[in-house]
Amino acid sequence: MLDTAKALVKSAAQKLGLSQAEIDQLLTINKEHQFEIELSEGQRLQAYRVQHNNQRGPYKGGIRFHPEVDFDEVRALAILMTMKTAALDLPLGGSKGGVVVDPRKLNTAALEQLSREYVRHLKDYIGPDKDIPAPDVNTNSTIIDWMVDEYSVLTDDVSRASFTGKSVAKGGSLGRDAATGRGGLIALTELLRHQGLEKKKLTYAVQGFGNVGSFFTLVASQSHSKLVLVAASDSGSGIYNEKGLNAEDLSKFKAAGGRFKDYASKQISNEQLIGLDVDVLILAALGDAVTERNVDNVKAKIIVELANGPVNEAAYEKLTRGGCVILPDIIANAGGVVVSYLEWFQNMHGENWNEAKVNAELKKYMTKAMLKLLKLSDQKHVSLTEAAFMLAIMHLKDIKN
Ligand code: GLU
Repeated sequence: MLDTAKALVKSAAQKLGLSQAEIDQLLTINKEHQFEIELSEGQRLQAYRVQHNNQRGPYKGGIRFHPEVDFDEVRALAILMTMKTAALDLPLGGSKGGVVVDPRKLNTAALEQLSREYVRHLKDYIGPDKDIPAPDVNTNSTIIDWMVDEYSVLTDDVSRASFTGKSVAKGGSLGRDAATGRGGLIALTELLRHQGLEKKKLTYAVQGFGNVGSFFTLVASQSHSKLVLVAASDSGSGIYNEKGLNAEDLSKFKAAGGRFKDYASKQISNEQLIGLDVDVLILAALGDAVTERNVDNVKAKIIVELANGPVNEAAYEKLTRGGCVILPDIIANAGGVVVSYLEWFQNMHGENWNEAKVNAELKKYMTKAMLKLLKLSDQKHVSLTEAAFMLAIMHLKDIKN
């Protein structure tokens, strides 16, 4: 993923005529933290925080807890965060954190200890004006609440703007939970409008039915979109119904801890889901979901990258050549960080917005970025992925269109 992220930045920068020195500067990581967290039960866990770029504002990016996290992945994700906040024109930079752990194997006390220890290690390097972490894969508002509490105890900070993605009771923003999924739908709707497809009934499949995937389907089903959900998967397996699946039922089933292998519907594997003959494929699980290994199976003509880095470079080349339109992660899943910014803004100004206001602001940011993206892609005859990275770099380097 690091190679893919760097290649995308480099190629977009070259298209904009940047010098090698400027490209090197864009790829330079400002600061890296690597440390071990020891839990009371004796377990030692590897932890990272990578602070890539803070030229536009404080570093910003989530923390993931996953057994396959590695340093290079966190570096790639930090670079993508810089590109994401810049593409959306937010006054923020880019960073990312990760801990090599399977949180499902920890009890609540150990999970809390891990979350608090992570903050103790980084307390001098994070904060409302320095670096503002947030949830990512396998982290949620409960974990962020522990973190923000630990930070307040250690530093006397009372703003609670040191983290975003908090529970609403602890200073979080209404609408943050649904923001990434909602933002993805706004982005896709703009793309469909651009392609003259907004009134057409289209089928879609969702790989990864976690927070992001499930909210995407819920918001789609509530907003009278013409999209018909026909398949969904979790990390274990998938379900398929060509007549349509009910987003609300699926979300309730998953919220109650269900696994799709136990859902009463036709069963398919994750790989079968990726190869389904649907109009739109939503990738909302992990990175590298589509690679040279399975790219030839993809039949969808539109892919929405709701996960970070779900299509690798080789697969991207092949798909784009074959006429598949990929809505790139740094725009498609930016709804989360947009509402994170709104949460931070509310905390800094002592405000509490209602959900309608948050959603309206989210829509404004997403629509503006999408219109700029579509225009740039048309003007420069480049893919949406290339255009998204060009847009980010134009904002970073103050290049006017
Ligand atoms: N983890 C999310 C992302 O990858 C959100 C980051 C944030 O809100 O800072 O965009």
